[in-house]
Amino acid sequence: MESFNKREFIHKNLKHWFEEEKRIFPWRIHPTPYGVWVSEVMLQQTRAIVVIPYFERWMQCFPTIQSLAGASIDEVIKMWEGLGYYARARSLHEGAQYVVSHYEGELPSDPELLKNVKGLGPYTIGAIRSFAFHQKAAAVDGNVIRVIARLYCYEEEVDRPSAQKLIRKKVEELLPDTEPWVIMEALIELGATICVKKPSCEKCPLQEVCQAYLLGKAKLLPKKKKRAKIILLQRFVPVIYHKKEFLIQKQEGKKVMAGLYEFPYFEKEHTLHYFYPGKLRKIRKLQEVEHTFTRYKARLFPTVWKAKERKKVEGFIWASIEEIQTLPFSSGHRKISKELMEEHAEDLTYGKF
Ligand code: SF4
Repeated sequence: MESFNKREFIHKNLKHWFEEEKRIFPWRIHPTPYGVWVSEVMLQQTRAIVVIPYFERWMQCFPTIQSLAGASIDEVIKMWEGLGYYARARSLHEGAQYVVSHYEGELPSDPELLKNVKGLGPYTIGAIRSFAFHQKAAAVDGNVIRVIARLYCYEEEVDRPSAQKLIRKKVEELLPDTEPWVIMEALIELGATICVKKPSCEKCPLQEVCQAYLLGKAKLLPKKKKRAKIILLQRFVPVIYHKKEFLIQKQEGKKVMAGLYEFPYFEKEHTLHYFYPGKLRKIRKLQEVEHTFTRYKARLFPTVWKAKERKKVEGFIWASIEEIQTLPFSSGHRKISKELMEEHAEDLTYGKF
């Protein structure tokens, strides 16, 4: 009886709090399966406030799954440029093509069919089912894990599969039969705004029933395994130009930056002399750039070089200034090209770099 009351208390207080406090985002105003899919993929690893303009631009450019499936990968990556984790954009594109060829361009509501779509994992499937199809489905992300671990005072490391299974089960049990999607989204919102790393328990609608709070353990939970260390990289980036063209490469295959363009780069500066089969003259250094991706932190040292002749280099292309501005670049190399375009625009225009 006691646990039943606690469940009722959570539903009532959480729903009331959510109705009063929920943040308005474009993907929350008439949620469609496609809109939920795109927003949830964008929101992985990126703050909601940053996602808003990307989401709006994306939905204008690719308003339907069909339009996304029919776009080129360069267009898709370009639209994603700046969000990082480009594998997510590639998965969205492949997923859209799958939905067009297998489900007539409409995301299905059946979780077994959703599993076949590239890039859709348990969380995104749960979010689509809950927010768009209004099913009783658990969408368990880091926010929900934090709230549940504290509410029920789970001491186990939450990144263990056994703990994740337990938390998912707890969420499924907690969801009501009436409007389960409201409680699901409210739990996510509570974890994103109040029950954050340093929780604001004084503002929390669940304080009275939160075991971690009552036991003084809110800030100690959830427990996690130690993270892999950040790996530091150092890269020399020769920006080689001839007349008004620059030597760039498109990263291919399964690399982190696949689909994105970059200038050549080396770990050792002297590699440049073996790389370019013609004469080069050093012109100037550009500002050092720091670039973080997955678990790497790279320091980029760009230098502009003038090539006496326009030589062919295996795997590279010569691109005009206009192309450099429109092609999708990795964020570190985009910063380099921005400095080139903004600080040295005149030199570039008159070819007197
Ligand atoms: Fe989180 Fe504090 Fe609320 Fe518990 S009382 S759910 S720890 S914010």
